[in-house]
Amino acid sequence: MQKKYLLAPGPTAVPPEILLAMAQPMVHHRSKDFEPIVASVKEDLKWLFQTSQDVMILASSGTGGMESAIANVLSPGDRVIAINGGKFGERWVKMCQAYGLNVDEVKVEWGQAVDPAAIEQRLKREPARAVFVQASESSTGVAHDVKTLGAMVRNHPNTLLVVDAVSAMGVFDLKTDEWGLDVVVTGSQKALMLPPGLAFVSLSEKAWGMAEKATLPKFYFNLKRERDNIRKNTTAYTPAISLIIGLQKAFELLKPEGLDGIFARHRRLARATREAMKADGLELFAKTSPSDALTAVKTPEGVDAEAVYKALRDRYGITTAGGQDHLKGKIFRISHMGYADTFDVITAVAAVEMVLKGMGHAVTLGKGVGVAQEILLAK
Ligand SMILES: *Cc1c(COP(=O)(O)O)cnc(C)c1O
Repeated sequence: MQKKYLLAPGPTAVPPEILLAMAQPMVHHRSKDFEPIVASVKEDLKWLFQTSQDVMILASSGTGGMESAIANVLSPGDRVIAINGGKFGERWVKMCQAYGLNVDEVKVEWGQAVDPAAIEQRLKREPARAVFVQASESSTGVAHDVKTLGAMVRNHPNTLLVVDAVSAMGVFDLKTDEWGLDVVVTGSQKALMLPPGLAFVSLSEKAWGMAEKATLPKFYFNLKRERDNIRKNTTAYTPAISLIIGLQKAFELLKPEGLDGIFARHRRLARATREAMKADGLELFAKTSPSDALTAVKTPEGVDAEAVYKALRDRYGITTAGGQDHLKGKIFRISHMGYADTFDVITAVAAVEMVLKGMGHAVTLGKGVGVAQEILLAK
């Protein structure tokens, strides 16, 4: 037997309370059994998103939510700016291209955050209908400064800021309305502690205005239609009923902690992980503004990160994530988002030390663990 730990940046671990809630017999979605559940989660989603706007619930993975963002606010040939600082930024570029948009790709070195001033310059030089960005780029563990981008884009009446917040919402502060985040997308399988299968999307008033004129084709992902439905406590098509029941339970767990408590917990876990890895002589991949969702760790010269990732998984039952593309073999990624607490970090750090030592690398067992314990003890 081997006990398993899921410490990957999605899907993340699901609390037993949620698993049990989702195991109930099926109810019908057009019924009094289900409509009150939608009524409750739709209000809680506004709390989570820090918005007064409707948050639409889609039965899809996070990428479906991203696709809905594009299809609903843009028209063929529109010029857009897509910030590409990793695998998910690249996804914005590819999706926008697939939709026939005129994409101005801003390549950001992996491990770095975008310089908002550079985006401002581009926008001034040539207007764009939208700026696409990740709040947290999960492939590199870097957080882009969406607050500054929001303040900037707000001054351009015909430009929207579209934020992939899949690994950011419920991890760190994202003031959708206050910061001018026009379209915000998240998914169920990261900080919301649910299985994959739900995407959530909010649009600002400015974005709804652009949606009125947008002519890209859409059918399933018609957000206007979804808005009409969510206002009536339902969805346009059959929702992922069990996941929405699980979402209600997730809010029951999260709301008593409060947004500030949730953000503080992630901040603490992230800091403990980073400092522990550094104490163990490892380098963090994020050169600036590391995301509190996950920590991307570089392995020393001659140590294959893929081997570390595999040893964590096969020897100790701990699933983290490896590096993608040119980072394969160079980094591994430990998630501390969602259903994560003190001993998830301790477990991860202890296991990394044991794996490295087992591979013959010079590491003092317990050094990083001690550093993490000190940080987590302080609360
Ligand atoms: C997980 C994730 C997504 C969504 O991916 P899906 O596999 O479609 O759910 C999008 N963006 C980021 C930054 C993510 O971490």
